[in-house]
Amino acid sequence: MIETRGLTHRYDAGPDSDGDNDDGDGGGRVAALADVSLRIPDGEFLVLAGANGSGKSTLVRHFNGLLTPDEGTVTVDGTPVGDDLVAARTRVGMVFQEPRDCFVAATVAADVAFGPENLGLDRAAVDARVEAALAAVEMAGRGGERIDRLSGGEQERVAIAGALAMEPAHLVLDEPFAGLDEPARASVLAHLRGLHRNGTSVVLVTHDLRDVLAPADRLVVLADGEVAVDGPPAEAVEALGEVGVRRPD
Ligand code: ADP
Ligand code: MG
Repeated sequence: MIETRGLTHRYDAGPDSDGDNDDGDGGGRVAALADVSLRIPDGEFLVLAGANGSGKSTLVRHFNGLLTPDEGTVTVDGTPVGDDLVAARTRVGMVFQEPRDCFVAATVAADVAFGPENLGLDRAAVDARVEAALAAVEMAGRGGERIDRLSGGEQERVAIAGALAMEPAHLVLDEPFAGLDEPARASVLAHLRGLHRNGTSVVLVTHDLRDVLAPADRLVVLADGEVAVDGPPAEAVEALGEVGVRRPD
């Protein structure tokens, strides 16, 4: 389970106009998340939506310790993230928007191997994980290919394989559909459904709710850094108009 309690995050917005950071004239510290308490049980498929700037990326970056809370706590499977960053990063797989910016190697297999290698696994164990992760995203046998020659959808699947190779209990994807065409989007979504069926918790951050609510157990919508909607998708969609998210057709 991933759990936040009273999570508040403020970004440093630089000095305000008179340099004293205390009068709220646009500078100082701006709360991107305010008192967010959320429990994501094991095995859940959660869709996290919200308008641009509502705090989605900020929230998920707390799940593996990329950000540190200003107030409140974040735990992964019972352990505070800040107490054991390695554990959090092993248990929470993260796939970012624009995977092209996140690849660390030229070929598919080398990139997917990077995480497991850093866990200190031996070569055979790394190879086994790479093979399984590529198979899970239907890229088996393509480990030798250059990433820059792949389509956007294939690159996204390689990014997901890179996260899967860490064998995470929880998989978090921040806007994975950005820049994908319709077939690629459908393929990535189908793979996420498969992973979810096999027991991985999935947190899918997206502002585009087409087709993602059918497999979801739950829809959470952020507005101005707070949880504005939280419930089973069929009920939660009723409240979407008020929080700046388009209802799917
Ligand atoms: P979303 O992912 O929902 O679009 P973000 O979590 O990226 O929202 O941003 C939430 C708020 O925090 C926005 O107001 C955004 O401008 C601000 N913000 C995000 N990243 C930074 C940063 N690195 N420095 C300052 N402000 C930021
Ligand atoms: Mg974002």
